[in-house]
Amino acid sequence: MNSLFRNISDTVFLEKQNLSKFMTIKLDFVGSLIICNTLVGLQKVVQITKEHNIKYRMIGLGANQVLTNSEILYIKLELPEIHSNDYCENYTFSASTSISKLTSLAIKFNLKGWEAFTGIPGTVGGSICMNAGTSLGEIGRLVEKVWILDSSGIVKTKVVDANDFTYRKNLFLKKDEIIIKAQIKHFGTDEKVSQIIKKYLRLRNETQPLGTKNCGSVFKNPSIEQRAGMILDQLGMKGFGSDKLHISHKHANFIEHEGGATTEDFKNLVMNIKKEVKEKTGIEFELEVKLD
Ligand SMILES: Cc1cc2nc3c(=O)[nH]c(=O)nc-3n(C[C@H](O)[C@H](O)[C@H](O)COP(=O)(O)OP(=O)(O)OC[C@H]3O[C@@H](n4cnc5c(N)ncnc54)[C@H](O)[C@@H]3O)c2cc1C
Repeated sequence: MNSLFRNISDTVFLEKQNLSKFMTIKLDFVGSLIICNTLVGLQKVVQITKEHNIKYRMIGLGANQVLTNSEILYIKLELPEIHSNDYCENYTFSASTSISKLTSLAIKFNLKGWEAFTGIPGTVGGSICMNAGTSLGEIGRLVEKVWILDSSGIVKTKVVDANDFTYRKNLFLKKDEIIIKAQIKHFGTDEKVSQIIKKYLRLRNETQPLGTKNCGSVFKNPSIEQRAGMILDQLGMKGFGSDKLHISHKHANFIEHEGGATTEDFKNLVMNIKKEVKEKTGIEFELEVKLD
């Protein structure tokens, strides 16, 4: 892989390096990653992967993803910002824009609907891919159009609506497709929005381990009534794991990394949690965090 990705304009290639800083959970993992600063750079990278049959995987902020595959190339976008900072009917963002930028705009202009992603760490691309959301709503309700780079390196646009999303999942991205930008609407303005956001942020701080090294919710909720964190809590599994890596004491659907653990350790812990839950409740936990 090495020589192929060195010296491509507008990219930075990290070959066989510890990529822990590209995951919010900061686990040790040695692999290869390329940062693309322009669309042209990204297109060149995709072209080479195709010519040489190299598998790749996108990474946003790595807030819901644990990197484990040293055979593939991880691609991270750091594209120029394109959004307006004024009040608009809708906004177009680069896929690499942080969701916190959307929250700042929501607070500034009281954008109705945008309270939905309060406190979600991530990028626009990763959050659309995951249909990220909170009890206040999901991003899929707000996305109008996405610009996608397909696996042959061609940019296409797709008009989308809420039907193109389901719980923590989009239904439109095909294998190897990359979101490069997205148009996001709001439902007008409401002066309560900034207050709702501030209140919800406080609540999240009280109930989730936001200041620790973690990757958000590890498991999907089996149903609205059966929440993964609640099940783990009821099974007394808070703290389950090791000193380095264990289920959070604050919220049982979070795994906290205290330092010194690898992504392999994470995989093993997840497997053990799933086994324990299956044995004790019969419930088959499904992963929300991307892990492969
Ligand atoms: C403390 C904490 C709290 C969290 N709370 C929430 C919450 O309340 N609600 C919630 O929904 N999530 C939550 N999460 C999870 C995470 O924030 C979201 O899933 C977020 O949307 C992930 O964005 P990301 O950019 O980090 O994507 P990543 O985790 O890097 O990637 C997620 C998926 O998107 C794909 N992807 C990334 N970029 C692109 C792209 N440009 N094109 C195509 N595919 C792409 C990746 O390949 C991967 O499959 C939380 C995480 C943490 C650490």
